[in-house]
This record gives sequence, C-alpha cells and structure tokens, in this order.
Amino acid sequence: MGIIGIDLGTTNSACAVWRNGQVEMIPNRLGEYLTPSVVHIDSKGMILVGKVAQERLLTHANQTAAVFKRYMGTDRLLIGGKQYTAPELSACVLRSLKEDAEIYLGEPITEAVISVPAYFNNNQRKATLLAAQLAHLRVERLINEPTAAAIAYGLHEKPESTQFMVLDLGGGTFDVSIMEYFEGVLEVHASAGDNFLGGEDFLEILLGLYLQQAKLTKNQLDSHSLQTLYAHLEQAKRQFNSAELVHIEPFLAQVSERISIKREDYITHCETLLQRIRFPIETALRDAKLKPSELDDVILVGGATRMQFFRTMVAKLFRRMPSANLDPDLVVAMGASIQAGLKARDAALDDIVLTDVCPYSLGTGVVNNNDYDGQQGFLFSPIIERNTVVPASRVQLYTTSKDNQTEVEIDIYQGESRLVKNNIKLGAVTVKVPRKRKGEESIAVRFSYDTNGVLEVDIKVLSTGQEYHALIQNTPGQLSDTELKASQERLGHLKFHPREDEANKVLLARAERLYEGRLEYERQLIAQALQQFEAVLEHQDPQAALEAREQFDEFLSQFEQDRLF
Ligand code: AMP
Repeated sequence: MGIIGIDLGTTNSACAVWRNGQVEMIPNRLGEYLTPSVVHIDSKGMILVGKVAQERLLTHANQTAAVFKRYMGTDRLLIGGKQYTAPELSACVLRSLKEDAEIYLGEPITEAVISVPAYFNNNQRKATLLAAQLAHLRVERLINEPTAAAIAYGLHEKPESTQFMVLDLGGGTFDVSIMEYFEGVLEVHASAGDNFLGGEDFLEILLGLYLQQAKLTKNQLDSHSLQTLYAHLEQAKRQFNSAELVHIEPFLAQVSERISIKREDYITHCETLLQRIRFPIETALRDAKLKPSELDDVILVGGATRMQFFRTMVAKLFRRMPSANLDPDLVVAMGASIQAGLKARDAALDDIVLTDVCPYSLGTGVVNNNDYDGQQGFLFSPIIERNTVVPASRVQLYTTSKDNQTEVEIDIYQGESRLVKNNIKLGAVTVKVPRKRKGEESIAVRFSYDTNGVLEVDIKVLSTGQEYHALIQNTPGQLSDTELKASQERLGHLKFHPREDEANKVLLARAERLYEGRLEYERQLIAQALQQFEAVLEHQDPQAALEAREQFDEFLSQFEQDRLF
C-alpha cells in the first residue's frame, strides 16, 4: 500500500506520490493539483472542501473557514454557529486529499508524510498529527517544509555538505530557513519570517493603485464587485511578471474607462513590502552567523515567489539566481512524497526539527525614561532571546521604578520590538513589594521555556522572599482521549458532498462569473448552456451528468480563451 506526501498549506494543500522512480502529483476531483485549504460547513452539517468552499468565502463567510493552519494548537473557530478546532478542519482537508489520492491511485491510502513549518512547536506538531488521525491517516513522522523543498531539489544527493536558504512566500506568510545538509541529515539552523506577509499584500497594493486611478474607495463597492475586482487584479498581478504595462478593461458599473498601470509604478508602491521581505532574510543570516556568499543555494517555495521583481530582488541580494525550476506551489508536496518513497524503502532521511529552539524572544516591560511625549510606552526587556536552545531557563533582576511603590506588574511579552506595544502580551503577574525608595526593591524574574511552547514564570521578591508562579501556555496541551473522542464525534456528524456534486458546483460558479463578465449575445449563449446543464443535473443520471459536465467545461473554456488581454 502506498504512502503519499502531503503539503498541508495555509492557503493551498497538495498531495503527491512516489511511483516508478519518480514524483507524481495527484490531481484532486477537479483535476487540479492545488486544493485550497478552505472548509465550508452548512447548517445541515454538509462539508465542502477546496475550491467550492473557497467560492463561498465571501458569500457564506460565517459558514466557511480558511487560513486555520495559523490556529493549529490554539483556539477554536466558530463556523455556522458550531465550534471546530484547527485540527478538525485540517482533518477535513486531509480527508478530501486522501479520497482524491485513493481514486487516482485506485487503492486505499492509510499512511502519509505530512509537512509542517520548521518553526512549529511540539504542540502544533501534535495538532497536525491529530488532524491526520482524525482523517484516518497514519503519520509516523512529520517533515519540515524547507526540508521537503530541499529534498525535492535533490540537495540531499550532493556528496559534500551544503548550506542553503529556503524562501517560502505564500499567500499570507513568509518563512525563511537556513539549512545544512551533512552526512544524511538535513538540519534547520535558523528560521525567521513574517506571519502576516504574502502575495495577498502585493494584491492589496495593486487594489490601492486601481482604486486611486478609478477615483473609487473600497467602501463604494459591494462584496460581489470587490470579489470580481480582486479576481481581475490577481490576473493583472501575474501579468506584471512579463509586461511593462498592464491594462484592466472596464467591468465595474462605476468605471467606464480602461485602467492602465505601469510595472515601474507598481514596484515603487511595493517597496515597503520588499523591505519587509529583506528583514527576516537578514535576521536568519545573522542568527545563523552566515554571510550571503556562504550559501550554496537559495530555493524558492510558495506561489508568490513567481513575482518577477521578487526574484530580481533575491538575485541582487545573493548575487546568484535562486533555484526555481520546480513549481514553487508543488515543491513541498513533491519533497514529502520523495520522503514517503524513501520511508517505504526504510531509507527516509533524518530531518532535525527546530522545536529545540525558541522561535521568538520572551521578556517583560520596563520603564522607558526617554518616553518624553508618552507615545512609546514601556521598553521590552528580553529574558529568553530568540533562537535560544530549549528547554531554557533564564533569570533577570528588576528594581522598583517609583518611590513608595507597593505593587509591581510584571507583564510578559513575546516579540522582537524594542517597544512592548509592538510585541504580543502573553500575560501579567502583579506582585506586592514593601514601601521603599525607588530602586531599592529587587525582583527576580525567571522564565523557563520548553519544547511544547509552555512558558513558566517564577517571580521572587528578594526582600520578603515571597514567590509567584504563572504558567503561560501559548498553545494548550495535547488533547486528552475524551477530547479526541469528542472531535471524532463532531466530525462523525458531518457529511461530505458527493464528489460529482462538487465538480458541478465549481462549473456552475465559473459559468455565473463568465456570464457576469459578458453582455448581450454572449450572455444569452452562456445562460442557455447553463440552463441545459442544470436540466441534465436535475435528472440525476450520473453518466449523462458526466458527459454534460465535460461538454459544459469545454464550452466555458472556449469562452475563457477569448480574452481581450
Ligand atoms: P501559495 O499560498 O503558495 O499558494 O501562494 C499563493 C500566492 O501566490 C497568491 O498570493 C498568488 O497571488 C501568488 N501567485 C501565484 N502565482 C503567481 C504568479 N504567476 N505571479 C505572481 N504571484 C503569483
């Protein structure tokens, strides 16, 4: 029985298999390699996964969940009035991928290699394993995403030791990893990133430029027009990869003229984003104590690395062309499937996880004597610094800042900014101190951090010996057996739409969109074809529906090819 490789991504997921000595991507029920990681659950408990669910993101926002990977191991999400955990939603995506693979490969699939970000802590990894368990997939070990990308590029086959960087710019996240391959082991040396930076931000800049030229504001557009505009701009964004000037023909009621945007202008407006991209690259290099010239390779992962000006920037920074000859959207799934193939032959590569370093700095706030206008607030005083090997325990002494102070609030922060207001507050402990002059009372603050992402805070007021203790669980503990059962039960009530149903829904939505973009005679033709297709579906004859679907797909494709630009 085969083992498949799965990239369970924030925006898209993909799945591949190692067969006949090579990687084979597995198409989903719509014949596509990328399945949006979006889940829609209606009031009757019927689930839709992927593109059909994505279509409903705007129209049925409260019944649809996306980007839940961000919440792996944390909160619950509310969908259609019911609460679901990120592992439960991920399980829905995995189930859908598993089913697609079973149909494509013609055999039951019970095992997978699943990729996770290198910086996932133990709890987030456990949450991913739980998702697999809920989807009835056995996963012995997870693979780090940059490791998977490196394997896909065959870096593990090099005879000598190699150091390289993996840049992963997806829809909404940017991850940088510095890795080393040495004697059969791929090790992540440093990781940095920006959890809120990705292709979507570049799209938002283009939206700004468009609205400015069209003399419109976002509020003047209803959600449907906005969705259509985003779709047009997404196409335009891709055209900038090869065109100096991109035209967007009028399609909104409020816009009567064609809008043209120069690549140069677009890039200028993206400069702040490009700076934000440079920042984690430098951080990772500094943390790994490496110069750009010491890297043997730079690998690009994630759809947004297709942006030509991103590539140009990377080439300039490293004075070499990055490796990008594999599809950046599929490379992680490819690597995972190669690892799965090696695992089937008991030759899987060792992949050193990064749970043994703390991904963020942890510390407290101290009085800022230079905050003359009251704008800055407290300063951040790191206690455990980023990339410290964990488990780690560090102590710092603080003194009172005011005369006759009777209480001191010790705030606990995570982040890298000098000012606490820009970091994330994880908690606070108030301690009592005897009245004294400022600076005369000392408080020892000890932070202990472990691989599960649990932070223990021990505070001692030195003069009184009074102790305080706080446990900060950034991510709650592993699910107990009863919670696991509850998860299984919640999922047990949900039902997947029949596969054909999903394909039909996507086709109908595509036709509706096409109809909206055309006028007069073309509209009539589309409406006619749509009605015919609906009439066939009404009869519920699977063979007739299949034939009609193929014909309708062909019909729509012809229309879509007839583009103006
Ligand atoms: P991912 O999460 O890796 O699937 O990344 C999706 C992101 O990649 C989206 O923001 C897309 O706009 C972007 N993307 C995909 N293809 C291209 C392309 N040809 N040019 C520019 N951006 C792209």
